[in-house]
Amino acid sequence: MQERIEPVLIVGGGPVGLALAGDLGWRGISCVLIEQSDGSIYQPRMDLVGIRTMEFCRRWGLVAAVEASPYPRGYAQDNVYLTSLVGYELGRERFPGIGQAAPPPQSPQRRERCPQNMFDPILREFAASHNDVVLRYRTRLVSFTQDSDRVTATAENLDSGAQERITARYIVGCDGARSLTRETLGIRMLGNPVLTYTTNVIFRCPHLLSLHDKGKAYRHIFISPQGTWSTIVAINGRDQWRFSIIGGSEQHEYTTAEIEAAIRRAVGRDFGFEILSVLPWVRRELVAESYRNGRGFIAGDAAHVMSPTGGFGMNTGIGDVVDLSWKLSAMIVGWGGEALLDSYSAERQPVGARNVAEASGNLRRMLAVPRHAGLLDDTPQGAAMREKVGREFTETMRREWHTLGIHLGYRYEGSPICWPDGSAAPPDDPRTYVPTARPGHRAPHAWLADGRSTLDLFGRAFTLLGFGTDAAAATPILDAARQRKVPMTFAAIAEPRIAALYERGFVLVRPDGHVAWRDDRMPPDALRLIDVVRGAAEAPTCASAKATVQVRNISATL
Ligand SMILES: Cc1cc2nc3c(=O)[nH]c(=O)nc-3n(C[C@H](O)[C@H](O)[C@H](O)COP(=O)(O)OP(=O)(O)OC[C@H]3O[C@@H](n4cnc5c(N)ncnc54)[C@H](O)[C@@H]3O)c2cc1C
Repeated sequence: MQERIEPVLIVGGGPVGLALAGDLGWRGISCVLIEQSDGSIYQPRMDLVGIRTMEFCRRWGLVAAVEASPYPRGYAQDNVYLTSLVGYELGRERFPGIGQAAPPPQSPQRRERCPQNMFDPILREFAASHNDVVLRYRTRLVSFTQDSDRVTATAENLDSGAQERITARYIVGCDGARSLTRETLGIRMLGNPVLTYTTNVIFRCPHLLSLHDKGKAYRHIFISPQGTWSTIVAINGRDQWRFSIIGGSEQHEYTTAEIEAAIRRAVGRDFGFEILSVLPWVRRELVAESYRNGRGFIAGDAAHVMSPTGGFGMNTGIGDVVDLSWKLSAMIVGWGGEALLDSYSAERQPVGARNVAEASGNLRRMLAVPRHAGLLDDTPQGAAMREKVGREFTETMRREWHTLGIHLGYRYEGSPICWPDGSAAPPDDPRTYVPTARPGHRAPHAWLADGRSTLDLFGRAFTLLGFGTDAAAATPILDAARQRKVPMTFAAIAEPRIAALYERGFVLVRPDGHVAWRDDRMPPDALRLIDVVRGAAEAPTCASAKATVQVRNISATL
């Protein structure tokens, strides 16, 4: 019997592996996902589903499921800085409940609060809904090798102990920070392996809100005279709370009595609660030197490990697999060139490094409160000190809470599969996002006359947008795509305000929603353009693109 070769073997069924399986299935590509656990979440880590991830959920038809998750949508999302829950409030950044916040004008979606124990099942159901996706829990990757045309893996069924061979064209390690896939591929991590030894504790206390006067808030950051030391997060908006002792670079194992005392110190009084789980973990600042070796790829925490300050980890990982999925799909279907797979690391590794650095910056800012011996003094001097600490901390922390630039403003500068147009990049500011249809950027959102978002036009195929024109005018590119079997649709957009946003007469958007090329006219060699964007020809450098723009401008004035 001929051996079955799986198109893609995914290792790890955390949010990133599940998103990859779901997106491949959505594209009609078969894959097998192996996950060593049974899928239960022992302690939810992520809970912020970023705005870009929500845009992907929109594409996948998952928005309603996320919005219906049990996190209460009216629960105020304030971040409060205080000496204890019954003590002094130093400052507060107010945010409404998730369901009460309107999406910003730059997106059809808003970010959501959906903890991992609620979000993973949504992704799991999505992945499992595709006939071509096989999810195998309690199955561990033991080892694998690769040669020029396949990957051969050994997996163990953790219930029976039986080992089996899985052969695949590609392997993607979504197997977390201690990734065996990464190790086997020989990919090094660069950066700082220990920022802090932190201890997370989930405790149950249904009446916590009645013990203090600070009202509902998402996150509480506790500042003592020695500085910032712990946080409490409303993890399910009901009865469960995540307490974190931030810790430092020295490892410390806490006894149950120490943990209980620390929780009471943060709350500021004695009270009854139940500890549900304790998770000591190491906060790291690492990014892989490359995301690919041959037929092996890494994504998510396997590729970047960052401080949770900012809530970027999973969101960055989902961005990785949205970038990778259509490229693998193109190789499997047959229209992708070899540079397409190289472009994955070229595009995503700089985004990983950027987000890792921003997350560490957030941590440093949170811990930068100097010692204030009189912070708790009930005196005019103590009050003045608290006012100053609170004001400065509130200002400093804003950068962590307002991160539209991180989520929407990443760009694939110098990508081997984008055709630069020589225009200047807007600043890459974590806080602000400047919509632009410059090649390499996320194609911007605008509402179409029929009520859809421009983003609803992108996904399964390349989309060629024509502003104030029709498909006949785009014949050279559409023909070239057909000739190379690259799936492409044409969308005519009449609205002048969207034309002004996109700035060129024609804009070619990739299946992941990033701009590959734009111009006011058809390219002189449309086949070359298609070969560049499918990874089969070298992209022009920016300098030559600049020359093209200059020629275009000169000819426009003739
Ligand atoms: C306290 C905290 C709060 C956070 N909050 C946020 C947030 O709000 N937003 C955000 O975006 N991120 C957040 N993060 C980060 C986020 O949790 C991670 O980035 C995310 O879980 C990574 O997902 P992943 O699928 O890449 O890896 P993981 O979630 O680690 O999943 C990897 C999976 O691979 C499996 N696996 C490992 N080895 C094997 C093997 N050999 N065979 C088979 N299976 C294997 C594991 O069992 C695991 O299920 C937070 C992190 C922490 C610690």
